[in-house]
Amino acid sequence: MLDQLDLYDDMAQVGLVGRRSVTFKDGKQVGGRGWTKVVEGLTDTFFDFSLNIRLKYSEGILRRRNTELGGTVHALVRLVDMLLDENAEDEWKVTVTCADFAGETHRVRAKYVVGCDGGSSEVRRLAGIPFEGEDKEDHWVALDHGATRIGYALSPALFAKYGRKMSQEDAVKEAKAAMTPFEVEFETVDWHTVYGVKQHVAARLQDRERILLAGDAAHTHSSGSAQGMNTGTHDAVSLGWRLAGVLNGWYKPGVLASYSTERKVAADTLIANDRVISALISGHKPASSEIEERTPTHC
Ligand SMILES: Cc1cc2nc3c(=O)[nH]c(=O)nc-3n(C[C@H](O)[C@H](O)[C@H](O)COP(=O)(O)OP(=O)(O)OC[C@H]3O[C@@H](n4cnc5c(N)ncnc54)[C@H](O)[C@@H]3O)c2cc1C
Repeated sequence: MLDQLDLYDDMAQVGLVGRRSVTFKDGKQVGGRGWTKVVEGLTDTFFDFSLNIRLKYSEGILRRRNTELGGTVHALVRLVDMLLDENAEDEWKVTVTCADFAGETHRVRAKYVVGCDGGSSEVRRLAGIPFEGEDKEDHWVALDHGATRIGYALSPALFAKYGRKMSQEDAVKEAKAAMTPFEVEFETVDWHTVYGVKQHVAARLQDRERILLAGDAAHTHSSGSAQGMNTGTHDAVSLGWRLAGVLNGWYKPGVLASYSTERKVAADTLIANDRVISALISGHKPASSEIEERTPTHC
């Protein structure tokens, strides 16, 4: 998809290509696990590798391309209110109120609003779309330095010891312990985080025709299988051509309903897979009902 949009070449210049994967347990290499299976499954594409790229770099590339195509990004502007008047006589049925960084508010009338404002989406909240799912007890740690990421699950004992406010120093110390018997030295850590696993999916990705959700606003899950931005990109591509066609008068607005049904199925599948994957990474046995749910059509 990124290649079709002329984005892949720029990302390939920045990202790291991963063609192999190894898994170790207690210092010994074990086969057939984790990312190894994913890489083995990449057989029906020219892009038979993973491209590891930090989010800020992929965002920068997307922003540059958007500007080249004549788009404008109004950063530091926060949506604070949204009203949809279905009976409005013209096509500009949604009015959003935004606050800029100086606190000044601006009202904008729009034909459509796409809520791609992350897991705590204000658009989703203001539209009253339920975000169904659960917040797990499990917490994971990630440490990052552009090219390298170390992540591990916080066991209940470690979580009781450090909580969510685990310092970078402690995160590094436990990362080293987790790598035993191998030794790892840290030169620089750009950022670290402790985050709770949350699995939620919006009840619908389209509300009263004019309001649409995409990305984390529509679905959040663990980072276990690295699917968040991937799925958000699929949402954006799926919505982009439909919305452009509707706004240009080529398609009937009803085509947007197929975005919602198509991507809701993908989001539900993603969350169901993540329940199993994140349980395994956290060291729990997934509930058998969750495994049974995974029929070949979900793969
Ligand atoms: C540790 C970790 C590792 C991950 N690793 C991977 C990976 O390897 N591969 C992968 O595909 N995904 C990964 N993800 C998931 C990925 O980061 C997210 O799925 C992705 O960033 C979601 O993009 P988004 O644009 O939907 O939302 P976000 O990135 O959350 O962006 C939402 C934007 O909306 C803005 N916003 C919020 N509220 C408002 C408002 N009221 N008004 C205006 N703007 C607002 C925010 O400031 C933000 O800029 C990982 C996530 C984590 C936490």
